[in-house]
Amino acid sequence: MLNMLNTLRRVVQEVNAARDLPSALDIIVQRVREEMGTEVCSVYLFNPDTGRYVLMATEGLNKAAVGVVSLASNEGLIGFVGAREEPVNLEDAAAHPRFRYFAETGEERYASFLGVPIIHHRRVMGVLVVQQKARRQFSEGDEAFLVTMSAQLAGVIAHAEATGAIRGLGWGGEVVQDTRFDGVPGAPGVAIGQAVVMLPPADLGSVPDRHIEDVEAEQQLFREAREAVRDDMLQLSDKLASQLRREELALFDVYLMMLDDAALGNEVNALIAGGQWAQAALRDVIAAHVARFEAMEDSYLRERATDIKDIGRRVLAFLQEAGREQRVYPEQCILVSEEITPAMLGEVPKEKLVGLVSVMGSGNSHVAILARAMGIPTVMGVVDLPYSRMDGLELIVDGNHGEVYSNPSQELRKHYLELVQEERELSQGLEELSELPCVTVDGHRMPLWVNTGLLADVARSLDRGAEGVGLYRTEVPFMVQDRFPSEKEQQITYREQLEAFHPLPVTMRSLDIGGDKALSYFPIKEDNPFLGWRGIRVTLDHPEIFLVQTRAMLKASQGLNNLRIMLPMISSVYEVEEALHLIHRAYSEVLDEGVDVPMPPVGVMIEVPAAVYQARELVQMVDFLSVGTNDLTQYLLAVDRNNPRVADLYHSLHPAVLHALVRIASACRDAGKPMSVCGEMAGDPAAAVLLMAMGCDVLSMNATNLPKVKWLLRQISLTDAKALLDEVLGLDNPYLVQSSLHMALKRMGLGKVLIQSR
Ligand code: PEP
Ligand code: MG
Repeated sequence: MLNMLNTLRRVVQEVNAARDLPSALDIIVQRVREEMGTEVCSVYLFNPDTGRYVLMATEGLNKAAVGVVSLASNEGLIGFVGAREEPVNLEDAAAHPRFRYFAETGEERYASFLGVPIIHHRRVMGVLVVQQKARRQFSEGDEAFLVTMSAQLAGVIAHAEATGAIRGLGWGGEVVQDTRFDGVPGAPGVAIGQAVVMLPPADLGSVPDRHIEDVEAEQQLFREAREAVRDDMLQLSDKLASQLRREELALFDVYLMMLDDAALGNEVNALIAGGQWAQAALRDVIAAHVARFEAMEDSYLRERATDIKDIGRRVLAFLQEAGREQRVYPEQCILVSEEITPAMLGEVPKEKLVGLVSVMGSGNSHVAILARAMGIPTVMGVVDLPYSRMDGLELIVDGNHGEVYSNPSQELRKHYLELVQEERELSQGLEELSELPCVTVDGHRMPLWVNTGLLADVARSLDRGAEGVGLYRTEVPFMVQDRFPSEKEQQITYREQLEAFHPLPVTMRSLDIGGDKALSYFPIKEDNPFLGWRGIRVTLDHPEIFLVQTRAMLKASQGLNNLRIMLPMISSVYEVEEALHLIHRAYSEVLDEGVDVPMPPVGVMIEVPAAVYQARELVQMVDFLSVGTNDLTQYLLAVDRNNPRVADLYHSLHPAVLHALVRIASACRDAGKPMSVCGEMAGDPAAAVLLMAMGCDVLSMNATNLPKVKWLLRQISLTDAKALLDEVLGLDNPYLVQSSLHMALKRMGLGKVLIQSR
């Protein structure tokens, strides 16, 4: 068992390090044949364009047949394995009715056959086969080995295939265009631009390829990075001299030797001389050495692989530092990363950033919410994207459908350029609405507020005619720092917001970290972060953070008096009691300091099912309720808002969500207190019609969508909206809700601003 795992690990590692798909497949067939002690091992891959399985690599059959022999999807034993999606194990293959003979391969001599399908994300990618001359019934163990190998290799093959495709090469070496990678919509709109891959710091595995012209300069850069690491190591060794034993200190000498020209240095320089930039040259040399050490039998030597990785990371950190200073961003920049963070958004000059692509996360992740606020087309959760190899490539980002295209053809580019133009015309057409009030045709007034967090939001929000701020996400200024901001610093930041919108009201939410919002300087590590220490739970456990923040808000509002405070993630009345207690304490402290401010209105966010059922009690305790539909949807439907695998189950128009909202609205109406909605749902024009009909008093949304919502609400009557609400509340299926709603609005001639939300 252990042996099998070791073998698997070794083969997968080797295959992962392969340069391209053909060499990856060659390694697979060689290793599998060796390990299973058979005469033949081959891989056939399915080409969806031709609908045929093509022999792509073999060890044992005639190699001249590679790329030549192919079978239709219903032909031969290969087609049989693919269609059954199961292993086929035959002692006498020629006797099977599906056997098909190919003279080119010399296959007739092989009696026994074991074939397993290679399946990735439900898609049959090909078939892995072993064969033998003598009749042999392959054992259950053989079958298990081949199935396990194939399952592991499917992802690797898919990755290798995608890597070729983004360079414009199909796996047969043919030119391919318009290669599509599927993700989920993050922020609407489309963009065409050049990929800039941004990496987590010092992660060798994710360094992209990049071609350089000036070999001398690149080698010099590498020399300087090595020198810097050497100085670091010497200092470290000096510092530790009194604490470590001699043998342990000797390790530092080994490290220093590794950096020498005679060891890694020369190999890296050779790759640079071939036109590769220093970071990727280092990546390849380190990967090769690590693989060699990891394959060793001796456990001490195996461990040295870790040292090599470590030294590689240290050199890389210096190279990246130097790179950051020199980085020149293209005019139309599409930021691509494994996981885009809010801090990364700040690194690219705003006027150059046209699109975002993230391998992780989904449309409800916080970075997607920021992207929507900034109006940058975004695709999230593109899990199969070989992102580290994409730097500098031309990409199309379709944030409406959640798709990314590489190597766009002339026709595709033209199609998307037209869409960009249409989108621009639509938003220009809506600009003139900014001065007009949001009133329905039958005279119902619907206040539209904005959600903010970035300073850049302020100007955009005011331009678009926002009537207040329904949610200021205070964690955003906390996230771009490297320590907790002081009371004074917070006061200055909050004052800017309050002043910019004065006299309009600004609703500041107390710090809402945890879940997918981490502070680098206050790490929280949990198995289930969305069910863990989040929002109010953190700040009640840290009154020093809550009090300082509240004091900063109160002081910032002096003379302006437009502050409202809001509490996130409330799941019990006692949390509200405790929070109110702390707010009153902070209030009396600032009064004692001579600051003259009125007590601001305080509200509770309804984001957790428990709070829906206690809305009546909660609303008695505070001045308003505000529904956070992003979290409420995730908790009602038990769908992680951040997980692309379940993104199509996340549905804010789900009947359960709609009925919860109706319930909250009725609690507020009976208490005579206002209800607002500040989740992304409020910014979806079609959903906004329903929320207005339910009796929401405020809709708070991102500035980008505000004009669309206003346009739609100004075209419809409250009476029609209520009729629509009645109709959809009778439906039991989220897809039906969405399609009936969209159809009805289109029939009224209001289709142009609808968003195909999930
Ligand atoms: C929400 O959950 O709907 C909300 C507005 O808060 P956030 O998206 O910041 O969690
Ligand atoms: Mg929330």
